[in-house]
Amino acid sequence: MFFKKTCFLIYLSAAVVTASVSGCGSNTSKISRPLLGTIVSITISGGPENAAEDFDAAFKEIENVQTAFNLYNPESEISRINKSAARHPVKVNNEVFTLIQRSLEVSVKTGGAFDITFASTGKLWDFSQENFTPPDDKTVKKLLPLISYKNVRLDSNASTVQFLKSGTKIGLGGIAKGYATGRAISALKKRDIKNAIVACAGDIQVIGNNNGKPWMTGIQDPRGKGVIGAIEMQDGESVSTSGDYERFRIVNGRRYHHIINPATGYPADSGLISVTVFSSDPVLSDVYSTAFFVSGLEKTRKLLQTMNGLSVVLVTADMKVYTSADLKGRIVFRNDLEVIYF
Ligand code: ADP
Ligand code: MG
Repeated sequence: MFFKKTCFLIYLSAAVVTASVSGCGSNTSKISRPLLGTIVSITISGGPENAAEDFDAAFKEIENVQTAFNLYNPESEISRINKSAARHPVKVNNEVFTLIQRSLEVSVKTGGAFDITFASTGKLWDFSQENFTPPDDKTVKKLLPLISYKNVRLDSNASTVQFLKSGTKIGLGGIAKGYATGRAISALKKRDIKNAIVACAGDIQVIGNNNGKPWMTGIQDPRGKGVIGAIEMQDGESVSTSGDYERFRIVNGRRYHHIINPATGYPADSGLISVTVFSSDPVLSDVYSTAFFVSGLEKTRKLLQTMNGLSVVLVTADMKVYTSADLKGRIVFRNDLEVIYF
């Protein structure tokens, strides 16, 4: 067997830490692979004999998402769109079309906080460069008109995507990991796996339990080591965290990170430093964690009044923890934190 059994499961991802409650039983197996620019871990508990094929089927789903959405591969669906959609409508496959459509719906719902055309900023906020220097105001302002979900036109009959402005680009980094997580879980379910956890870094979904004990996830401390709280996950539940502490640079005392406020073209500065969303759909958890991070505390609270099925943990810059009332009793928070339920 090419996978190794672990005796204590700890997924240490950028955003969310998951750990089994009391170590894993003898029939729990975990495999981690580098995918989607991060580490993807899949754990199956109580799997049948053909576990290797089960893992392969789940990882295959994630590889497919990576292939379709890779901005750096000129042959990917997203690259094809970005190259030509300003000149003519580009036909895309059903999967990509649906995800773009879902993204635009979330843009409308969040007043543009979630917006895949953030990618029109190109390499301005590319922190992988050794010598990252923040762009000047003029450069950012010049690109601003290109950032708007209203610049993207979809034709569902023809299955095409078109950009209304030359220079507009899209990136699905704010939805891809949640989507991939859900695909992997579906693949496992199809193969009759009843107990598993898929973690694309901070995007996680679980089914069943870990040898009779709930799968646990923890919310990483955005400014320190360890977690701010831990929660027992329910069957089918998903969780996603967005924070300003995963990919960032501090230049002249200012923190630049990878979540862009589409209204300004700059990294979002809403007063929130970590946003965790729980729901039954990993796509929703993923997109809304990003969107709420951009929106900030007050707008998020207002928006949540109009929505069902989402629970949140919002951490402000002064480390206050605002938590949906329905999570009361479910999350065990570190006892030095001020937790406000709403
Ligand atoms: P991570 O990808 O680190 O888990 P998120 O889920 O919050 O964090 O997604 C951040 C990613 O989403 C960015 O790396 C970028 O690809 C994309 N993104 C950044 N800003 C926005 C935005 N305003 N709307 C939609 N996607 C965004
Ligand atoms: Mg997200």
